[in-house]
Amino acid sequence: MPPPRLAFSPAHLGDRNNAIVAVRGGPRKIALTFDDGPLPSATRRILAFLRANDIRATFFAVGRRLERHPDLVRSELAAGHEVQTHTWSHDLLPPRPAAEIREDIQRGARALRRVTGRAPRYFRPPHGFFDRRVSSATAAAGLRMVGWDVPIDRLAFGRDPRIAARMLLDQVRPGSILLAHDAPNGAGRAISTLTLALPELRRRGLTFVTVSELLSSVPGQPPAIASRSSTDAPSCRRPQGRQISTARCARP
Ligand SMILES: [Zn+2]
Repeated sequence: MPPPRLAFSPAHLGDRNNAIVAVRGGPRKIALTFDDGPLPSATRRILAFLRANDIRATFFAVGRRLERHPDLVRSELAAGHEVQTHTWSHDLLPPRPAAEIREDIQRGARALRRVTGRAPRYFRPPHGFFDRRVSSATAAAGLRMVGWDVPIDRLAFGRDPRIAARMLLDQVRPGSILLAHDAPNGAGRAISTLTLALPELRRRGLTFVTVSELLSSVPGQPPAIASRSSTDAPSCRRPQGRQISTARCARP
């Protein structure tokens, strides 16, 4: 059997410069991703949903928001999720001069590194729009572009969640990357659609993994990013002085 391979966006940039949208021919794993946070109420809602359903996901965080809510990013990591970058400003990249594109991508990555102590590996352009200059700026920042092949919000917008869930189940395949948002007008749609789709996804044997874990199944891709364990997480102190890991004391 041929080894698993990356699938790319249909944009005509050539595979090396293009956005990865899925893995094909690999294990029965899928990656659920959430863009645009962290935003307190929506992100906490999504974290509670993920915890209740034992799902690990990947958050593409906006730099200026994560600097305002570093506690939320730490809660995401402490819960075993992955956090990657979605620019600093979330303004559309392609209409802007190349220097601004580079700066927005790099500033977003620096902000994430300051908060997590770890450089991001993957980047998603705002609204998924990119061109050759965005692609080169991404590579220059040491990042890979990641898109999606199942847009949950687009399927769910203005539709009965039962229809959206059916459309999701029609489109999802082993190796799919699903797009949702931890933003006020996207979190509810994602939760209602996923809640209805989960039993069938599980029946098909599809398990949720992070983006780095999904991509690591492809030969030549870097290994999955280890989720933060209680031993390397910064500890926090209860009033009585006992040290416990942030995985338990962070407030998602
Ligand atoms: Zn976005």
